[in-house]
Amino acid sequence: METKVLVLEDYKRTGILSRADMDKLDEAAAVIRRGGLAAFPTETVYGLGGDALMKEASRKIYAAKGRPSDNPLIVHICDIDQLSELTVRVSEEAGKMAEKYWPGPLTMVFKKSPAVPDETTGGLDTVAVRFPVHPAALALIKKAGTVIAAPSANLSGRPSTTSAAHCVEDLNGRVDVIVDGGDCEIGLESTILDVSGDVPQLLRPGAVTLEMITETLGMDIGEDAAIKGPLKEGVKPKAPGMKYRHYAPKAPMILFTEKNGGSIAEAMAAGLRENAGKEEKMAVLCSEECISELNKLIPEIMKDVDVKSTGSREDKAGMAHVLFERLREMDADGVSFIAAEGSSEENIGKALMNRMKKAAAWQIVTV
Ligand code: AMP
Ligand code: MG
Repeated sequence: METKVLVLEDYKRTGILSRADMDKLDEAAAVIRRGGLAAFPTETVYGLGGDALMKEASRKIYAAKGRPSDNPLIVHICDIDQLSELTVRVSEEAGKMAEKYWPGPLTMVFKKSPAVPDETTGGLDTVAVRFPVHPAALALIKKAGTVIAAPSANLSGRPSTTSAAHCVEDLNGRVDVIVDGGDCEIGLESTILDVSGDVPQLLRPGAVTLEMITETLGMDIGEDAAIKGPLKEGVKPKAPGMKYRHYAPKAPMILFTEKNGGSIAEAMAAGLRENAGKEEKMAVLCSEECISELNKLIPEIMKDVDVKSTGSREDKAGMAHVLFERLREMDADGVSFIAAEGSSEENIGKALMNRMKKAAAWQIVTV
């Protein structure tokens, strides 16, 4: 299949969708309406969209991603009224969260209505729903006149895509169109909150943080086992996607974090010293502050290291914004070992560290 890239030129320049951009979104919407696939930007990551109510479209999404068919898709809406078609019950907590954080980077899991095909939910009796805030995503859903099933627009097992160039890298020849709306603002996938049971459960941390949820609901919520540590044999996560080795760079990665007042740069320097000579191409993924410390500690070794900056240590949202891009760059550079600097787990730090721990396959050094 030939993939057409539709660039939202004016939106990328001004942040406003022009008539010409809208015409391109019309073209992408027509693809969705006839059961085809369109990758599109959202505020979190790019989505790989198809008509959520059309079994055949959902099957195509799994095939295009190379995704196991028991890993359900997220259904995207552009109007709160669409929720009643998809679900049979909306709890009081879900109502509060929707009022405060929709549209936005929050996905909620509800008991599904019969209108949602099993193909879309991976056979589950629940459905994940998101109301994005990105104007191009909203316009696309509205023009398509349906609800859009979309997992992240990457090949299964690769980092999520946060730019159209990443989508082309993974999906060229596998989807009908890719809508280019520039870089995704947040850069990490949405928060997933299960509101189908009695007590809401956090299934995946994201930009709507645990702190924001507990504050809004005025109660403590549960957290799925998949967030806390590597899953033990036989334990099933509530979000089936969390069991797969997600977000993984090709090279092994060690994550360095600080808890006891130690120096991350010193610990990383020791790790790099140990592997110098053994590893063909070492990389560091860390803050500007850490890079300058490493340059002082091990100048000789740093000359040959592939250095990937995540910006200032103080700016966790900035680190989140570039994480997946840097992981892709290191894959492209063919590195064989990665030493990465983590962050604290407050606010967006929890989502950032969740993706980093998975990328590191839970190889963590705490100082
Ligand atoms: P992705 O957007 O590619 O990160 O994939 C969607 C994520 O949502 C996956 O981790 C799924 O497991 C999760 N998800 C989708 N539907 C449900 C559901 N009904 N219950 C729990 N998790 C879900
Ligand atoms: Mg994904």
